[in-house]
Amino acid sequence: MADELGPAKIIYVQEPSIGLKGILVVDNVATGPSIGGLRMAEDVSTEECIRLARAMTLKNAAAGLSHGGGKSVLFADPKSQPEKKETLIRGFAHALRRESDYIFGPDMGTNEECMAWVKDEIGRAVGLPSEIGGIPLDTIGATGWGLFHAVKVALSYCDFELDGARLVIQGFGAVGKHAARFLTEQGAVLVGTSDSRGSLYDPDGLEVEALIELKAAGKSVIHAPRGRKGDADATIDMECDIWIPAARPDVLHEGNIHRLRTKLLAQGANIPMTYGAEQYLHQQAVLVLPDFIANAGGVICAAMEYQKASQSVAMQTIEEKIRKNTEEVLAMADSNGLLPREAALQLSRKRIRKAMSLKRWNIF
Ligand code: NAD
Repeated sequence: MADELGPAKIIYVQEPSIGLKGILVVDNVATGPSIGGLRMAEDVSTEECIRLARAMTLKNAAAGLSHGGGKSVLFADPKSQPEKKETLIRGFAHALRRESDYIFGPDMGTNEECMAWVKDEIGRAVGLPSEIGGIPLDTIGATGWGLFHAVKVALSYCDFELDGARLVIQGFGAVGKHAARFLTEQGAVLVGTSDSRGSLYDPDGLEVEALIELKAAGKSVIHAPRGRKGDADATIDMECDIWIPAARPDVLHEGNIHRLRTKLLAQGANIPMTYGAEQYLHQQAVLVLPDFIANAGGVICAAMEYQKASQSVAMQTIEEKIRKNTEEVLAMADSNGLLPREAALQLSRKRIRKAMSLKRWNIF
């Protein structure tokens, strides 16, 4: 899995006295100390962590940030008792206190409060609560905002308009709900969505604000009064114009990709599909916006927070960077007959190699 870009290091952390087991992967630091989320889940793996760290390297370089890519995972139930969760996160941060080339950020299973614990423990975290100088990126929907702009740019390569476009979002969480909010405010119609407990479909359109309130009350989208309920997996079969994966990695693969009926797919989740699935969609003339271009809003916001920028400057920067990158990638893909991912990889790797050539060491 290693190549000329990384990983620079992989660190395993264990502290049996509190049931702590975690991994840090620092993939590449040529452009600066790595930023990447801390994921808390029971079913993560070293391989997943390595792939996610690489996605951060590519994402941060593509966005022109002065940060490399890294990722950390904690093997634990994110719904553990709050005291246990805090102990595990503080313990993990403490164990990594000297790894100054990694800056913690929030990811699945962790949030702003968790980042406040890390900051308190070791002074190195982004995605903090506003009370301690953070820009609450999940509350304001930084990633959803970026996805919205990536989709708007991509529309010039599609045969439909945003107004009236049918939208399906898999995973109505921090990324999914804000993408739904921004896109429907501009005329898209959310016809289907899901969370880990099931899916909801209504061809006449679902009420985004009502679903957001439902989720805030700790319920599932399947508790909405209207709409057809189904398995969590059922969003794959919902016909639409825009499909956004915003849940887990590898949800689309060679075994199920033929079920998808959409024209544009904007990757909200990290590594949501296999390369084979992406190639299949390309052959079917479905435009796929790669994760590390389309979902960079969160990390751009985090990097802006690290530079002590204001929330409005952060949102403006997300819009500018994601619009520019999406335009560049789609133009290059179009004129060279490449998958957008291939074009994006070429651009990003070129920037990283250049940064590496300017350094003596690419670790520490
Ligand atoms: P989240 O935990 O807030 O939301 C995830 C949602 O997906 C939840 O509603 C959950 O119930 C749902 N889900 C889980 N398993 C599912 C399944 N099998 N089928 C359908 N829904 C399922 O997480 P998030 O912050 O929104 O992140 C979602 C994805 O986006 C992750 O892959 C994350 O790495 C990626 N991402 C997040 C950000 C960010 O700013 N939060 C930035 C870039 C990428």
